[in-house]
Amino acid sequence: MLVGRFSNGRETFYGAVLGDTVMRLKDPFTAPELGESYPAERLTTLAPVRPGKAVCVGLNYRDHARELNMPLPDEPILFLKPSTAVIGPGEAIVHPSQSERVDYEAELAVVIKKAARRVSVERAREYILGYTCANDVTARDLQQKDGQWTRAKSFDTFLPLGPYIATDVDPSNLSVSLYLNGTRRQHSNTNQLIFSVYELVSFISHIMTLEPGDVILTGTPAGVGPVKPGDTVEVVIEGIGRLTNRVIGEAGL
Ligand code: MG
Repeated sequence: MLVGRFSNGRETFYGAVLGDTVMRLKDPFTAPELGESYPAERLTTLAPVRPGKAVCVGLNYRDHARELNMPLPDEPILFLKPSTAVIGPGEAIVHPSQSERVDYEAELAVVIKKAARRVSVERAREYILGYTCANDVTARDLQQKDGQWTRAKSFDTFLPLGPYIATDVDPSNLSVSLYLNGTRRQHSNTNQLIFSVYELVSFISHIMTLEPGDVILTGTPAGVGPVKPGDTVEVVIEGIGRLTNRVIGEAGL
């Protein structure tokens, strides 16, 4: 099932996407009962979750490690992005004036279904609602300047998510691509992940409790590069869909 969050201008709700129709969902986390249906074109698609936290993983693709000439890490490197960075499909990424170099990073995002604390790798799957596309937008110059990553990763609009949460895909074998102005710049497969989705859920849950709606960004493959105002970036993941966002300057152009 593809689960989205929608607005009809009056209210916001979850829905199951069935072709051109959206069927209202009572609560995809606990009671996914279908209700009223709407023509999709009458609704605005929002970010599919409002996470309490987004836990992100640094270097986690073998091809990206090769590209950077870096040894494979023996444990995941974690950082957080704030919930205020989240935007939905079609919303604009704002290129902040404090940065000279803002990069895209296409990533598979895991959406947590229920509270996870000290979960084993074997049981991690039970705690996952599904998967969506993410763009871990990064002010690369500030990341290098600061040494720690909070400022570089946390600007408002630096976490596009969507369009939908796919609940039935196999996270171990999905193609992940990024298109910049229609040209493919990143292309890999989650079979290149150094730490699998289930290993990440387990590892993180031994540090912090993961709550319903929290997301885990699983790292980006080779081919990261910069964006500028006027660009359009699209993250495309097999079985999930296409997350499209354009980039604007602070003046809104
Ligand atoms: Mg990243």
